[in-house]
Amino acid sequence: MTITATDGDSRGARASRAEVIHRDIVRAILEQRLGPGTKLGEDEVGAIYGVSRTIVRAALQSLAHEGIVVIEKNRGAFVAHPTVKDAAEVFSARRLIEPVITELAAANCDAAGAKLLAEHFAREKQAEREGDDRAAIRLSGEFHLVIARIAGQGVYENFLRELVARSSLIILLYRRSRAQCCKVDHHAGLVEAITSGRAEDAVRQMTVHLDEIEQELELVETAMPAKPLSELLAG
Ligand SMILES: [Zn+2]
Repeated sequence: MTITATDGDSRGARASRAEVIHRDIVRAILEQRLGPGTKLGEDEVGAIYGVSRTIVRAALQSLAHEGIVVIEKNRGAFVAHPTVKDAAEVFSARRLIEPVITELAAANCDAAGAKLLAEHFAREKQAEREGDDRAAIRLSGEFHLVIARIAGQGVYENFLRELVARSSLIILLYRRSRAQCCKVDHHAGLVEAITSGRAEDAVRQMTVHLDEIEQELELVETAMPAKPLSELLAG
């Protein structure tokens, strides 16, 4: 790889621009605007953000590291297309770490944590009430990350961020209907249990919730036609 600093930016500024692209791509995946297999052309992404290929490449590589993007030699970068096996592994990892995160969150939830969770949940309900599907889907995934934030474990939170993004791709590929992945009433019960410090109850609810999300999926190999990025962004 050739590193060129044509824009004359400092290393720090390049890193933060790469982070913006990283964040936006994850957000588009969480909102299910960017689907599995979408090509992420370096030039095209660079033109959208007005940045060099070096910066785009840094963003794509960090996404690839997280399993969200796949970089194929001589073909470029694509949004990952998780297989049935990947899906099973992602949910297995979530079933393993989310009960621990939930237990910690219930144990550590102070007034600030309770406010954070309640406010996030209110935004989720509002998006659903207003029929804003994109926001509702993203916020329902981020709800799980807010719980990890309250748990106060950065490593778990980062790990879960990757798993939630990959779950969005899995849900997009394998869901049985167009129904939302997380049910608002499940989240209501979790808010209640976590903010009142009922750790055991919260863990039980999280386990049931994750099982239900997985049961909504039909885990058989499927194909989703790749569309050009310009077409996806034009809508
Ligand atoms: Zn959920």
